[in-house]
Amino acid sequence: MDQILLVEDEPSVASFIKKGLDEEGYRVSVAYDGASALQLFDQGHYDLVILDIILPHKSGIEICRSIRKQASAAPSILMLTALGTTENIVNGLDSGADDYLTKPFKFKELLARIRALLRRKTFLAHSADNLLEIADLKLDRNTKTALRAGMEIKLTSTEYRLLEYFLKNQRKVLSRIDLLENVWDINFDMGTNVVDVYVNYLRNKIDKGFGSKLIHTVIGMGYIMKTDS
Ligand code: CA
Repeated sequence: MDQILLVEDEPSVASFIKKGLDEEGYRVSVAYDGASALQLFDQGHYDLVILDIILPHKSGIEICRSIRKQASAAPSILMLTALGTTENIVNGLDSGADDYLTKPFKFKELLARIRALLRRKTFLAHSADNLLEIADLKLDRNTKTALRAGMEIKLTSTEYRLLEYFLKNQRKVLSRIDLLENVWDINFDMGTNVVDVYVNYLRNKIDKGFGSKLIHTVIGMGYIMKTDS
């Protein structure tokens, strides 16, 4: 049974979500502030954390960063918040969240996103092919480490997933919609530039300062990962 930690300071919202998730068969613990969220997290084993951002004591962003620092337990993190600007979303994903849903939300959509996050986790855990590479770039999916020309590259969880998707689809043009769907699980055009923002983050880490570029822009279409030649 999947264990979920729900962090939400509004009691009526928390009980509504908990009730719905209980009915779906998830085991849900609720924290109503940032400090008790981290305490509960340390004491339990959670597959998924649903995080509000504006909370007493500690923000959801801080909680997310703290959870991501503890690499051994790696739950999926879904931010569920009223803060809905592109900047909010980029900030949330950049702090280590896997997905971001804004309030008000449809409960069916929340459930679908939870299922997708848990599915991806299971898929990664059981995947047999755990080394992806192109030229002198290697991604080890067991240890979640990336190397370029033998140098370790530190990636956030979103950058990691983006790189993984590029590597699995190398020499294919990937549109922004394709990347949104497969890296962020977002199935509609949010009208944000989140893809371009993250592709740039990733380029700065894996291409900048190295001899050959691996991520190329295909004007009007998207991006492609390939060797120069
Ligand atoms: Ca709140």
